[in-house]
Amino acid sequence: MVVAASPAALRALLKRYGLEPKKGLGQHFLWQARLVERIADAAELTEKDLVLEIGPGTGNLTAALARRAGMVVAVEIDRSLFPLLKETLAGLENVRLVAGDAKSVDYRELLEICAPGFTGPCKVLGNLPYYITSPLIMRLLGQGFRKELLVFMVQKEVADRIAAAPGGKEYGSLSVAVQYYAEPEVLFRVPPDAFFPPPDVASAVVRLRCRSRPAVKVRDEGLFFEVVHAAFRYRRKTIKNALREAGLLVPERESRFFAEVGIDPGRRGETFGLKEFALMADALFEMRE
Ligand code: SAM
Repeated sequence: MVVAASPAALRALLKRYGLEPKKGLGQHFLWQARLVERIADAAELTEKDLVLEIGPGTGNLTAALARRAGMVVAVEIDRSLFPLLKETLAGLENVRLVAGDAKSVDYRELLEICAPGFTGPCKVLGNLPYYITSPLIMRLLGQGFRKELLVFMVQKEVADRIAAAPGGKEYGSLSVAVQYYAEPEVLFRVPPDAFFPPPDVASAVVRLRCRSRPAVKVRDEGLFFEVVHAAFRYRRKTIKNALREAGLLVPERESRFFAEVGIDPGRRGETFGLKEFALMADALFEMRE
């Protein structure tokens, strides 16, 4: 059951609290009950699960999660929504609402404080504010708190980039970085009219299953990501020129480098899979030593 299950009901609910959706905070609230339940189902929750939700908004998804999980810790930047959330989440004793910015919260500390009884990995969900989607996903994946599964609503184009394979135009540093930590799946598309107010773009729900260890083993993770970013920053250049432009490879060492890794220096960044990026990063690491 969803508290405000139509655009009119959501508008009326917000109005009762003197609120209007804030565009600057990406506030597009999902009202279609069927979709809310589908997203919650995608997290495969049981009462043993701890959920971290990003941006509860009016609480439609939060309530669906709370009915399935052991506990939900929800981080919302907009404090003016809290009185409304107290109404829509009334009676759900297993929700902890936290006022905070998802871009800077220390998640490990937050979960230890809010859910001390949960020691296992958590699940992360959110209809993400689109103005910060990619950096937020990278922050959530890269931060050292234990998680096993993430389910996000994102812009459809971002979903396609996350799951893209080498060779296509969607494939880029976001694909490599997400796939380094997790196995992504695009689950289903969501049209703009499922939200109030409707966004200008189509959306999609993605599920990321965290790997027990990164997809490739590298000597220096920072250098691995430098190579990846260089390859896609200079997308139209060959890998030889991209590494040179980024200051990662000096011309005198190029022939030896490409001979050692067995990679054609004329190939472009978008053709490389994670293993080849790792191979190049490790060879650069060894040359530096
Ligand atoms: N979960 C709700 C839903 O499905 O209807 C709301 C989704 S709305 C797309 C995004 C939510 O994230 C809004 O409630 C917004 O205020 C919140 N938000 C935006 N920026 C945030 C940030 N930096 N940290 C935490 N929450 C944020």
